[in-house]
This record gives sequence, structure tokens and C-alpha cells, in this order.
Amino acid sequence: MSSDFYSIQKIKSARKEHTCECCRTKILIGEPYENQTGVYEGRFYSQKVCPVCSKILDYLFYEKGYEELDISQCLNEYMDDSIYKLLKEVQHPSQHVEDLIFEYEQEKLYEVMEDEVQI
Ligand SMILES: [Zn+2]
Repeated sequence: MSSDFYSIQKIKSARKEHTCECCRTKILIGEPYENQTGVYEGRFYSQKVCPVCSKILDYLFYEKGYEELDISQCLNEYMDDSIYKLLKEVQHPSQHVEDLIFEYEQEKLYEVMEDEVQI
């Protein structure tokens, strides 16, 4: 039996409410989401992610080459300019995401200020 298994199921319309593992947004009934299932290090997992996060995960996987993604931490840990832009673009409705965007903007502001001090 193969040890590695990974599958993504795109669901067009949720039949019950779920929570996105990545951004903690509620996936409401009737909304699309992705159901990702697989085996990682011998353990079976199944996680639901909203379409925005699935884009972000694709980006991290294909563009950045991150293979071991901690889904539950993905937005906190891998936030960068391009993800920030992506999040702004899609106008994520989640408060959690808004907070992250805010934090990121604050951080950037702080970096700029630090640079100015050094010069
Ligand atoms: Zn999400």
C-alpha cells in the first residue's frame, strides 16, 4: 500500500457549515470550498479550506515550493507581500484575515520607520 496519498475535492456548494482550517473563516451553506484529504507521515488527515486559502496554498506550493505547509498556521506564518496583495484583492470577509492584514501593514510601517532611523 502506498504511504503517500493526497486528494483535493472541489465542492461547489457546502451542505453544512464548516470552518476553513487556514483562515478560520466560516464556510457557509451554499458556499464553495475544498476538501483536502491525504496521509502525511502515516496519519490520515482531512481539512476544509475556503477558495481564497486554496489559492494561497496553491501559490505557496507551486510558486514558492513550500511542500510542508502547516495549514492551520498558513496565513500567520507565510504572509508576505504577494499574499498580502492576494488577500487585499479578494477582500476576504473574515475578521481574522482583516486582523492579519492590519498587523502586516503595521509591521511594514514599523520596518520603514526602522530603516529611516538607520539612515
Ligand atoms: Zn480560508
